[in-house]
Amino acid sequence: TNDSKSTSKNKVVAVVGGGLVGALNACYFAKRGFQVEVFESREDIRQAKIVKGRSINLALSHRGRQALKQVGMEDTIVSKGIPMHSRMIHSLNGTQSPIPYGKKGQVTLLMQRLDTPHSAETYSTTKLNFAHKLLNWSTETGAMTFLRADGTKEEIQADLIVGCDGAFSAIRKQFLRQSRFNFSQTYIPHGYLELTMPPINGEFAMKPNYLHIWPRNTFMMIALPNLDKTFTCTLFMPFDEFENVTTGDQVIEFFQKYFPDTIPLIGADALKRDYFRLPAQAMVSVKCSPYHLSDKCVLMGDAAHAVVPFYGQGMNAGFEDCLVFNEIMDQLNEDFSAVLPEYTRVRVPDDHAIADLAMYNYVEMRSHVNSKWFLFRKYVDNTLHMIMPRTVIPLYTMVTFTRTRYHEAVKRWHWQDKVRNDIVHSSLYKGL
Ligand code: FAD
Repeated sequence: TNDSKSTSKNKVVAVVGGGLVGALNACYFAKRGFQVEVFESREDIRQAKIVKGRSINLALSHRGRQALKQVGMEDTIVSKGIPMHSRMIHSLNGTQSPIPYGKKGQVTLLMQRLDTPHSAETYSTTKLNFAHKLLNWSTETGAMTFLRADGTKEEIQADLIVGCDGAFSAIRKQFLRQSRFNFSQTYIPHGYLELTMPPINGEFAMKPNYLHIWPRNTFMMIALPNLDKTFTCTLFMPFDEFENVTTGDQVIEFFQKYFPDTIPLIGADALKRDYFRLPAQAMVSVKCSPYHLSDKCVLMGDAAHAVVPFYGQGMNAGFEDCLVFNEIMDQLNEDFSAVLPEYTRVRVPDDHAIADLAMYNYVEMRSHVNSKWFLFRKYVDNTLHMIMPRTVIPLYTMVTFTRTRYHEAVKRWHWQDKVRNDIVHSSLYKGL
């Protein structure tokens, strides 16, 4: 209504964290007419070439795209993205076999991490404050204390604080002191390390429109294409195993044993050097609830739910948070005291479901893609989907190519799993 629009113009929304989700959120609030202030601890990311330890390319799927679309950002991002339609499984002997993700036309898009942050600046009501690190905030007054690059502190007030400051959120620390706040965090035994595969004669060294996977049971490597024709290879492996490889020669020996086809493509010298450039990074899964604190503060993105990266949904879920919040803002007329609890009610089960699914996929990607039984089940799923497209929808399709609520996708998957197993077993008995 006009009323809410005129009040939103006077209200200040502080978005803490100018990463992917913070930047998108800033656009959503600015579009509604709020005064938006974004606070980011890093220096201006426009100047930063590499975000340390963080992969530069991310798989953007349906949910993320819908969220970008709502604020008119989809086309810009998609035009700069690389479509991926299949996985490419690399076996030990070097054979490559593609496994399509979904039906024809269902693609996942690879976007570059640095594409989003500055979109928020297109709104005149948005101010980006770099080198502002949130130290603390008061749940009573809502006052936030920031540390600036020159060592000075600044205190700032806002009508709403949106915590988008990532998996180790400083905003969330105040939640931990509240009664009835649930919180859990789990580190998985695996770490990850990134390597670059350069172009060959100006062209991609492998087929570009695939997610390349080298599944090797307890560990695996994946490779994703970048716009500059390089691939980013990410090696996922238990920390114990990383500790066993300490010299350049051991790296080569290790790759010879498990990923021999990649040695000439990455280059033996580069491999020996880059393997030790950064230590392996840890991966954490964080779940909490509620996502809001009175009508003052709300958590979104990794600050609310860091998930392990094995479903390619972390950013997508975070982007969908913004979209869901926006839908609730419409329904409840921008009244924060009603919107915030409703957002928690609606979103917690879904974000918890994707955290669980990502953990499940952690196991699946490592071992099951190798197994014949898994491939056979996938085949049955896809066939059933073709015959009964409305009744049987593979889990991956629901998660990646639809906005079916995550927790409903899980429910439906359990039901389908039962039906599918019944069919498989009865066909086996019939000797089919
Ligand atoms: P972040 O990207 O972590 O941003 C948080 C921001 O807050 C940062 O800019 C940080 O500097 C800032 N900040 C932190 N503390 C403070 C403070 N005290 N004060 C001010 N600012 C602060 N997701 C996908 O959807 N698809 C993928 O393919 C995918 N691949 C991944 C691969 C790997 C190896 C990993 C680790 C993750 C992957 N993800 C993927 C997940 C994705 O990276 C995250 O979900 C996403 O970055 C979350 O965005 P965010 O804005 O919530 O948090």
